[in-house]
Amino acid sequence: MRAIDAVEASATVAIADAAAARRADGEPVIDLSAGRAPEPTPAFIVEAAVAAMLAGHTHQAPARGVPSYLHVIAERLLRVHGLRVNPASEVVATAGCKQGLMLALLAVLERGAEVIVEDPCFVSYAPTVSLLGGTPVRVAVDPGRRWCMKEEALAAAIGRKTRAIIVCSPHNPAGVVHRPEDLGPLARLARAHDCIVIADEVYESVAWGGRRHTAIASLPGMRERTIGLMSLTKSHAMGGWRIGHAYGPEHLIARMVKAQQHLSTCASSIAQHAASAALEAAGEARMKGMWATWERRVVGFTRDLAEVPGLRVEPVEAGFYAWVDVRGTGLGGDEFCRRLLREEQVAAVPGSAFGPRSAGYVRFTAVKDEDELAEALRRIDRFARGL
Ligand code: GLU
Repeated sequence: MRAIDAVEASATVAIADAAAARRADGEPVIDLSAGRAPEPTPAFIVEAAVAAMLAGHTHQAPARGVPSYLHVIAERLLRVHGLRVNPASEVVATAGCKQGLMLALLAVLERGAEVIVEDPCFVSYAPTVSLLGGTPVRVAVDPGRRWCMKEEALAAAIGRKTRAIIVCSPHNPAGVVHRPEDLGPLARLARAHDCIVIADEVYESVAWGGRRHTAIASLPGMRERTIGLMSLTKSHAMGGWRIGHAYGPEHLIARMVKAQQHLSTCASSIAQHAASAALEAAGEARMKGMWATWERRVVGFTRDLAEVPGLRVEPVEAGFYAWVDVRGTGLGGDEFCRRLLREEQVAAVPGSAFGPRSAGYVRFTAVKDEDELAEALRRIDRFARGL
């Protein structure tokens, strides 16, 4: 069987595309599926891209990235996390986190290797591992332990063929920010079994209530075995630019750069200039207003959803999502989403897309326009009361 035929379509992308097509046909669908904020990219970032284009930066960049972008990334890792990263050897520019993940897996995997993923986790981790010839091994996270994998379960899943563990914090879809003590068992096991940790940190800047993201690479002994993945898609409303970066030990980043040479030559040079403006200290300071708006929406929508009969929602700590246990309505997540779309024209992502153990959950993107969120809440409430 072809590898591509053996994996599921991306639920987040497929549902968002279908919702966009229905909206284009004039149907009043409210799309709370993929994690996309409605705001356009801030003008100061767009202006940096225009200036770069007018200055002639319209050709390929080095495969590793535009040197000034790599410097901004290294400077930010030091400023925010106290991490000392050499921009000339320990960073690579990527076309978002998904491409960063692909390059990281290419740097780590041998044919037949196993990669541990959390259950639930972002919809593309397991398919990407499979497409690259690896075997994903799902380890349940425990809602009672702040959605971390249990140390015993993780230890039992690590075997002779395990090469990497993919973790996401702040977590998509669960919305928790893992604290250093939450990450301790994972770090201990990764060190003991010589595993690489691939840390998806895409939601690090959008942590709420003053919470702070802990970079796994900053934990003792983890710098030399962690590849951090970052993208500006979420934090800077730059989804269309397809820009991010990865950092990690020199030998792994060197393999990622080699893969990049063959697969895309480089990340977009124009997007790298824009991302430099976004990630500089002054640029991040300019984002604070947008992040505060998003926090108000996500925290407010999640709180309001908790009032809907049959829904259970924990207060959200970070990210764009309300992660909702819908079992109290008598429906599973798949049926809930199918009927909610058909009867009330609200698109959401069923929990099963994030892993088999989350069939009773639904994920709603809560960072949308306030009027849309208010209307979505009315529809969801009417739907739940009518069941
Ligand atoms: N990562 C986002 C999500 O979980 C965007 C969708 C995607 O690119 O798959 O919704």
